[in-house]
This record gives sequence, C-alpha cells and structure tokens, in this order.
Amino acid sequence: MKSTNSRRPLGGLCLVLAGCLLAASAQVQAQEMAGKPAANDGTNATYWMQNSVEYKANTEALYALAKLRLNQAIADQGWTAAMEQGSNYEKKPVAVILDVDETVLDNSLYQAWIVENGQYYSSKTWAPFVHTETSRAIPGSLDFINYATARGVAVFYVSNRKAPEEAPTRGNLKKLGYPIGDEEDRVLLRGEKEEWGSDKGTRRAVVAEKYRIALLIGDNLGDFLDDVDVSPAERQKLFQDNAAHWGRDWIMLPNPSYGSWEGASFGFNWGAPAEEKRQMKFDIMDDWKPAE
Ligand SMILES: [Mg+2]
Repeated sequence: MKSTNSRRPLGGLCLVLAGCLLAASAQVQAQEMAGKPAANDGTNATYWMQNSVEYKANTEALYALAKLRLNQAIADQGWTAAMEQGSNYEKKPVAVILDVDETVLDNSLYQAWIVENGQYYSSKTWAPFVHTETSRAIPGSLDFINYATARGVAVFYVSNRKAPEEAPTRGNLKKLGYPIGDEEDRVLLRGEKEEWGSDKGTRRAVVAEKYRIALLIGDNLGDFLDDVDVSPAERQKLFQDNAAHWGRDWIMLPNPSYGSWEGASFGFNWGAPAEEKRQMKFDIMDDWKPAE
C-alpha cells in the first residue's frame, strides 16, 4: 500500500468564501513549511469502499464472473492466465492466484484512520495495523475461494505484504474462514525469498511449475504484470496490449483508494508535497473549458 499526503480540516466557520480559500491556502502552506503533510484526498474513495452498496455490487459481480471463467478454464486444458506458464502445462492441476489487500482483505479501517487523522500510508503504521488482524473480507471473495476449493482448485495468495507479516496475514485470513492450504505454502509474500521482490512474476513462476494457472485476480496492474511503475501513457499501452485478458483470465477489482495508478500520475515521487502531486494529476486530467 502506498498513499498520499494529507491536511487537517480548517477549524471554525469561514463566513466569506474568498477569505476561507485564502485561509485554507495559507494553512496548507504553513503546514507544508512545517513539514506536515497536506490534505489526503481519500475521503470519498474510502467511504465508497467501506460503506457503499455500489462497491459491494461491483466486487460481488466480478467474483461471480470469476466463477464462470474458472469453469471455462477447468474445461479447457490449453487455458492459462500466466505469462510464466511455459510449456507442457495442460495436464497440471489447476490453481488460481489472488492478491490479498483490497482483493481478499478489506483494509478500509486503516484507510479511514489515515483519512480522518490527516495521515498517509507509512510502513510504521501499516505494520501495527496488520498485526491487529482486523481486516475484513472483500465481498464475494470468500464465496469464490470456497467454490474454487470445492472444485479441487489450489488457491494461492500472492501479496506484497512483507515476509515478517506472514503470521498475522495468515491469522487474519484464517479468522475470516479463508482456506490457506496446510499441504504447502500458498501464502507467498514479498521478500520471503531473495528473488521475491515487489514484482510478482517470480512468485507466479513458482506456482506455474506445479500448476496450470487459471485466473489472476487483483486490484492493481502489478497483480498481473511486472514493471508497471511507468508513465500513465505507458500503462495505457500495457492495458491495450493485454486487452484479451481483462475479464477473461485476469479479473481486476476496483480500488480508488491507492495503487500504482496513483504513483504513475506523479512519477512515483511519493515524497513530493501533496499540493504538487495534486497539481500533476490536474495537469494530466482532460477537462472541460467553459466558454468565457
Ligand atoms: Mg491489492
């Protein structure tokens, strides 16, 4: 997880709009000069993911689609979702690979804390949150995973949570009833092995040695492809180049709270001041110009 900076809301009542804007701007400047982060834009995104039925309806629909695609994949031995699959995979047992955060586990408690307290993502606060094992289930995910397991499909979790977070990650999944596989390690985290960096291809390759990978499910371009920390235009090209996968063997869940899509907008300069990052997003967005 990565995220943006934040600003505390103005206290008191601003009677004159112009005065309010000036005061807000002065406050942001003062806070940034004092080394404090300026406003986190994540209120709507976090509220939507945690509280809206619209979000739930999306994830439920995508996991319902994943069931249909899994049935197709099981029936078609030539089907594979993984670039790393290689050859002679047709007779291998079937597996699916899911990301964890905002794919299986809902971390909106952490996101809400960030937004409400003028914070932004930091491994210093994220690690204690992970150890509380209080993440919730993404709607539809448990039902899909139980369905896959009942069909004899091996379920792998490939996450960029770090290796020291494996025990609480397993604990949280277990508490919510997710099967995590006792027969082999199916929770593959970043840094568990030297070659397991933030790109997930090396971990997919390990799964592909033994299994035919039917589906990849995630909320971030990096759950499907390596080397995604590129410009917005290059990401559009990656999307188009892989058009045949989306909604077939690659299922993308919505995550408006955070992701590599955001980093791309400001060249992955996460440490830049919030106002600068916001301006870079404004510069990229197409916008209507009303007639004078
Ligand atoms: Mg994720």
